[in-house]
Amino acid sequence: NLRTSCVPKKLKLNHIVVFLFMFEEHLLITLRWQTANLRILFIFVEIISIMDIRIGNGYDVHALAEGLPLWLGGVQVESPIGCIAHSDGDVAIHALCDALLGALALGDIGKHFPDTSDEFKGIDSKILLARVMELIENEGWYVVNVDITIAMQRPKLAPYIVPMRECLAEIMEISPARVSVKATTTEKLGFVGRSEGCEVYAVALLGREEGLFD
Ligand code: MG
Repeated sequence: NLRTSCVPKKLKLNHIVVFLFMFEEHLLITLRWQTANLRILFIFVEIISIMDIRIGNGYDVHALAEGLPLWLGGVQVESPIGCIAHSDGDVAIHALCDALLGALALGDIGKHFPDTSDEFKGIDSKILLARVMELIENEGWYVVNVDITIAMQRPKLAPYIVPMRECLAEIMEISPARVSVKATTTEKLGFVGRSEGCEVYAVALLGREEGLFD
């Protein structure tokens, strides 16, 4: 039961004032006590479930080369070309991690998992995403939705979109309906169009319910 609107923090005080006013009314006007009770209940529910939201964006590029495996969105794509990388080169997960970290101003994937470290050499990017999720959850946040756009000239990614959404949703522990993955070519323009590289844009929205006494 996620709320789609965000009530600014400053409204909290107004809510408390209204609550006190309603409470006074409740004491004084006994004839209307049932109505007043209901109104107090609704206002109190509003006070305890104020939602804070944060948005982040991520961007990543990897060069492509013949004969390397191609991982995108946690799924291996059948392809004669793959990403050159220190990790498994899952450029979609990297952009997504940057969007998630960006939403909380926690830096970027390079800061948390440096490509100079042997620990992350050839690492499955799904593990990196799971670690980013831990960081987010430790701060009390959850993912509302994400939207990822992969720009790649070839191969065709359409058959892999649903498996990518399902894979990412499972790691983030949300419904695939909250995970959008889109693929586009660049009409053979630029480095993407020449299949020299793959670039990914990602946006993530995070939410956190704030209680009255946070
Ligand atoms: Mg990367």
